[in-house]
Amino acid sequence: MTKHIFVTGGVVSSLGKGLTSASIGMLLQQRGLAIRLQKFDPYINVDPGTMSPYQHGEVYVLDDGSETDLDLGHYERFTNTHLTRDSNYTTGQIYQSVINKERRGEFLGKTVQVIPHITNEIKQAISKLDSDEVDVVITEIGGTVGDIESQPFLEAIRQFALDVGKENCLYIHLTLIPYLKAAAELKTKPTQHSVGQLRQIGIQPDILVCRTERSLSHDECSKIALFCNVPIDAVIEEKDKEFSVYEVPMSLVEHGMDELIVKKLGLPAGELDLGDWRNLLHRMRNPEHEISIAVVGKYAEHRDAYKSIYEALDHAGTAHRAQIRVQRIHSEAVEREGAERLLSGVDGLLVPGGFGERGIEGKVDAVRFAREKGIPFLGICLGMQCAVVEYARNVVGLEGANSTEFDKNTPHPVICLLDEQKNITDKGGTMRLGAQPAELVPESKAAECYKTEKISERHRHRYEFNNDYRRQFADRGMQITGASSDGKLVEIVEVPDHPWFLAVQFHPEFKSQPIAPQPLFAGFIGAAVEHHAAGLQVGGRR
Ligand code: GLN
Repeated sequence: MTKHIFVTGGVVSSLGKGLTSASIGMLLQQRGLAIRLQKFDPYINVDPGTMSPYQHGEVYVLDDGSETDLDLGHYERFTNTHLTRDSNYTTGQIYQSVINKERRGEFLGKTVQVIPHITNEIKQAISKLDSDEVDVVITEIGGTVGDIESQPFLEAIRQFALDVGKENCLYIHLTLIPYLKAAAELKTKPTQHSVGQLRQIGIQPDILVCRTERSLSHDECSKIALFCNVPIDAVIEEKDKEFSVYEVPMSLVEHGMDELIVKKLGLPAGELDLGDWRNLLHRMRNPEHEISIAVVGKYAEHRDAYKSIYEALDHAGTAHRAQIRVQRIHSEAVEREGAERLLSGVDGLLVPGGFGERGIEGKVDAVRFAREKGIPFLGICLGMQCAVVEYARNVVGLEGANSTEFDKNTPHPVICLLDEQKNITDKGGTMRLGAQPAELVPESKAAECYKTEKISERHRHRYEFNNDYRRQFADRGMQITGASSDGKLVEIVEVPDHPWFLAVQFHPEFKSQPIAPQPLFAGFIGAAVEHHAAGLQVGGRR
């Protein structure tokens, strides 16, 4: 029978429930158990696809094309689980499904209510991940205990234990133990309150994971244990990590987390094998080079907007024993101050995906600078479209070239709307989404990186390279080195007459893992390391 772990959060948001859930998943997997991960987001949007990165951070895309919360990125990076749309539900989706059932008459004249109809729908979403092959389903409840929005989810997980038996469920509550400088003390009261709130609705947490900037003393742990009604060995400290998020599983192991879960749920677990993970951390801690990569985007100041990109850069850096200093550069700052001033001295430029006109000219100018100065360049989605616009204007000689997303009347629409998008008016879930196969040109940089000519990567876009211009670009040295299987859709462009200039219509960052860096990121960072070394040799700008 599949067992269930529910992860809730208290006191404040942004405590790292996603990372903790992912780490627990990883540890159980390393003990030989089959796990599934899932997140409930209490907002009413059907998915985060229509939300601004300022509100929500990155939209993480799965193979099946679902647009999901960025915590699913942590799940995929920490574990080898296959995530699908069953791994992320929002309040919006739950209600939509219940309302659709009501319209179909499935409730047979009954009054449709939060309890039982909404809570049943939530419980079904949890059970959907049960199967003979799955030992444990880990379900993270987004938001903070006490929020009005999360109440139906908490009620549903309370009922769930009643349905399947308490012995098959484990409640883990992540909480904050703040340090008050004035009192020179760690404070446990907010945790007592948030556990109190959980208990009021009938959930007694089994394990408390305490986020803290300082280690908890034995006395502090016993106080938390007493007031929150948990055994002292179930008070797990999770101190802030200065170095890397990939340390979280290690610190959970140090405090006995995996053993505790295995014991409490009676799981048929094997020995913990963390050899690869330890190696990875060792390599991360002992880099041999330090390089700087500029990421020029519209949301430079927002840490979460390009989450998977920063992670993928780190994975590739670790593989090359390079510490990556990411310079987050606002594309509008490039417009104001010029690419030369902001980008001189960087070892690589990455222009990520995005939507809307703001900052576009800054991105185009940044690409021009990297192309002209021979700085390794990786363009992703909108980043590829900017590279095509830049090449059109400055090399092919197509004055005023643009994407029709930004200039409907451009004389040279080198990027234009995908045919399949022409009659679409709804914004939600209607882009070209998810995993799509592509074929690579032999001996291209792309094929060299992937070491294969058939790939599959995840997409999220409405615009594409305009095929009417293929010839002119090829004649002037920009090659199409990857296309959809029918050859119609441009997936990758390269400039062979440049040390490393490659841009892709898809999002390679979503499939990068710490122990298996994404091939294009690895190639890009390899080129940036070389660029750095060459710069040191000439002894110029550094
Ligand atoms: N706005 C562009 C498009 O829709 C790029 C999308 C992206 O970068 N994800 O095609």
